[in-house]
Amino acid sequence: MTLVAEGEEMALSEHAFDDLLDAAVRFHGHLCPGQVLGVRMTLAGCREVGIGRARQAGKDLVVLVEIDRCATDAIQALTGVSLGKRTLKHLDYGKMAATFVNMVSGTAVRVAARETARARAAEWAPFEPDARKAQTLAYRHMPEGELLKIERAVVRPGWLDRRRVRVCCDCCGEGINYEREVRVGERTLCRPCSGESYLLPPCARSVPAPEEPPS
Ligand SMILES: [Zn+2]
Ligand SMILES: [Zn+2]
Repeated sequence: MTLVAEGEEMALSEHAFDDLLDAAVRFHGHLCPGQVLGVRMTLAGCREVGIGRARQAGKDLVVLVEIDRCATDAIQALTGVSLGKRTLKHLDYGKMAATFVNMVSGTAVRVAARETARARAAEWAPFEPDARKAQTLAYRHMPEGELLKIERAVVRPGWLDRRRVRVCCDCCGEGINYEREVRVGERTLCRPCSGESYLLPPCARSVPAPEEPPS
């Protein structure tokens, strides 16, 4: 089944858990503890910010995820948020948490997997010898308060209200959108040129950079 039926979309909470999980698994490619966790995080997050029909919400729902792991795909599959639509923001914190923001009401709620949930998984699936399957089962049946930490949050200015402006980096000359530039003294730099790059500088590469094509 698809989450968006012909015509009116059903609220997430009106779907059977299995249907939501199926949709997440189809998007992600396999069933894993992260899919169950992601479905539960999405249900809690959307409910707490008052968004029932997440896919219909469009730009009214923004989710900031703090990890690039399985659960992130479940959130994306159920809500329809995406990087390209700028409704999904990835922050590389390595934490199993996501903040759901209702852009109309301004309500924001951070949902995080409790560290203790992992350790207690075996208690919720005592007859399952496989640890991964036990986790999948446990995350499904654990009471929400035991699985998730849910807190009201306030997103700092500048994260969601970025202006559509474009400047050029004084070092590499490339365009920088959405006020992501940094000022270093008199210069306007992109974040990589200011020292934040994920790429090694050319002199540290083992493979030489390609020659500039003749002009
Ligand atoms: Zn997975
Ligand atoms: Zn630059």
